[in-house]
Amino acid sequence: MTDHVLTLNAGSSSLKIGLFTAAAEPEVRATGAVERIGGAAALTLEDAAGATLGTRDLGEGGADHAGALDAALAMLREHFPEAGIAAVGHRVVHGGQDHDAPVRLDDAVLARLAELEPFAPLHQPHNLAGVRAARAAFPEAVQVACFDTAFHRHHPFVNDVFGLPRELYDRGVRRYGFHGLSYDYIAGELARAHPALHAGRVAVAHLGNGASICGMVQGRSVASTMGFTALDGLPMGTRVGQLDPGVVLHLIEQEGMSAAEVTGMLYKRSGLLGLSGISNDMRTLEASDDPRADEAIAYFTFRIRREIGAMAAAMEGLDGIVFTGGIGENSARVRREVCAPMSWLGVALDAAANEAGAARIDAGGDVGVLVIPTDEERVIARAAAAALG
Ligand code: AMP
Repeated sequence: MTDHVLTLNAGSSSLKIGLFTAAAEPEVRATGAVERIGGAAALTLEDAAGATLGTRDLGEGGADHAGALDAALAMLREHFPEAGIAAVGHRVVHGGQDHDAPVRLDDAVLARLAELEPFAPLHQPHNLAGVRAARAAFPEAVQVACFDTAFHRHHPFVNDVFGLPRELYDRGVRRYGFHGLSYDYIAGELARAHPALHAGRVAVAHLGNGASICGMVQGRSVASTMGFTALDGLPMGTRVGQLDPGVVLHLIEQEGMSAAEVTGMLYKRSGLLGLSGISNDMRTLEASDDPRADEAIAYFTFRIRREIGAMAAAMEGLDGIVFTGGIGENSARVRREVCAPMSWLGVALDAAANEAGAARIDAGGDVGVLVIPTDEERVIARAAAAALG
């Protein structure tokens, strides 16, 4: 048996796993995913090169999170019989006010994280279900929680607060910010490969199904477009992004919607899907000739520009922009529509480099523009391996 670490990312209806060596810089051995937990669940496992090792249909309603983990582990053992699991790293969306770094999980920590469930009801209970399943499967292994909020825990007061009565701030109604594992990875890549930018002021745009921007100064987060929840800021695949709270009151008081109905609208039926009426998926929208698809993309890219401008104000300048996430890494159109109207800010795009998907896409203006593929699983694996000492 050789020591490995397992990474777990448990969502509402999915479970992603990664098998890494337990080195200081872990090497990926395999990644897997169970999709549609609770429905027609299916498991796939791939090797480090992305080749499929196996697939398994888990049957209609045949798996909860524990069952999904059991099935994934059985397939892992079949392909990597020599891999012993010494540590498990978990993605946990909310670490509250306390955690600015990964933490070893024990009963007391788990109980405190469960108290944060009302702050992230769509994610935290599923993350913690994954923790409980992994503790049962690997009672001897070190279990480590890695938080989406941790990277943002040292924002200045003005970027941490809402203009609400102060007692709400003291009770935890704050701007937490999310996507922290992705930003942590990008900060590391900037330090490694772009030290001058790392030392400066960078707006990092994580643009995927969820989307946010982090203002990073000297590799540390000073502001996030996401707030108390992962609903604020940019419009996303199905989430609304920034919204006048008066609209919520209107929907409840005048339109007679229940809180649950408003929640469903803001999280599941808004953003790119809501505006286009076609899809939450950027590839589908880019391929569509329906004008509503163009309008949805135009709103998305406008909001990104607006928030980059806001980050420049928060950071008192802008030395770089980094694009990451499924859209940021792959959509030349979105990067072009974000950057082209920002020449006033010193942004100049190299059109050919952008279309070719190059790693550096600026034309040498004042602002460096980079495309860096993110790797949240690696950040979790590093934390789990570090916990082994
Ligand atoms: P993520 O949540 O990071 O996996 O990102 C998912 C989003 O990335 C979806 O909206 C996809 O349509 C988008 N995406 C992935 N590949 C491309 C591509 N080649 N062009 C445009 N969008 C893409």
